[in-house]
Amino acid sequence: MTTQVLPGTRTSYSRLSTWLRCPRKYRYRYVEQVEDERTAPALIFGTAIHEACEVFFRSLPSGNPVSLDEMLGVFTRALTDNAALAEEQGAPVAWDGGSLKEMLAKGEAMLAVFHQQVDRNIKVVGTEVEFEVELSPGHFVQGVIDLILDDGGGHYRVVDLKTAATSFAEDRIQHDMQPTVYIAAAERIFQAPGQINFEFWLLMKTKTPALKILPVVRDERDRAELIQSINEVEEACIRGVYPRIRGHHCFGCEYADRCNRA
Ligand code: SF4
Repeated sequence: MTTQVLPGTRTSYSRLSTWLRCPRKYRYRYVEQVEDERTAPALIFGTAIHEACEVFFRSLPSGNPVSLDEMLGVFTRALTDNAALAEEQGAPVAWDGGSLKEMLAKGEAMLAVFHQQVDRNIKVVGTEVEFEVELSPGHFVQGVIDLILDDGGGHYRVVDLKTAATSFAEDRIQHDMQPTVYIAAAERIFQAPGQINFEFWLLMKTKTPALKILPVVRDERDRAELIQSINEVEEACIRGVYPRIRGHHCFGCEYADRCNRA
């Protein structure tokens, strides 16, 4: 069976946030599709934590959630395999003084906290839920939602799980576009306008790990701003506008050598 692709432009939160952080990086990644020079440790770490948590969430509806040991097995395999794969693909992990061993220990401590503290009464509707929604006429947004919960009474909760060294600042909670995109997507998926809540679940990498839940609220004004931003980024891309935005995010950038040479 073939899937019908509707005419229009397509973006994602990842694309949008990459352009807003550094348009030059957007150009390397999405326009020129340049091979990564290096792999950020945080990327493979976050992926491995996600895999372990996903196995947990998927096991919840059975009433017999996986043990911590099973989660740690998934995490260790994912992190080790992805570090090896990055090396094989010519984009080795930029450890910057850290090591795989340290990262394994940190992840194990964080997952132990997750396994102990996570609410086992949640009703999981889906994990890694792919979506493509038409946010405004001819403008589609794609993405993958980590976790969707049924809160009863026609209400749903979208959860984005993140690993973080520090908690999110208030401006990120107020203005990050990811919740706006994901709430809009879930409203379409469930045909439930105004009945979607959103939470960031932060698994903290702090010395004493913690699971922090940050509810986020979005309204029509946020959605209008999102649509405007998508249109403006599209316009900039059509015009080939990709300036460098220098900052702390340049350290460990996958394209730093290329960017510094050009
Ligand atoms: S090194 Fe900095 S300015 Fe250059 S692409 Fe990467 S993030 Fe952007």
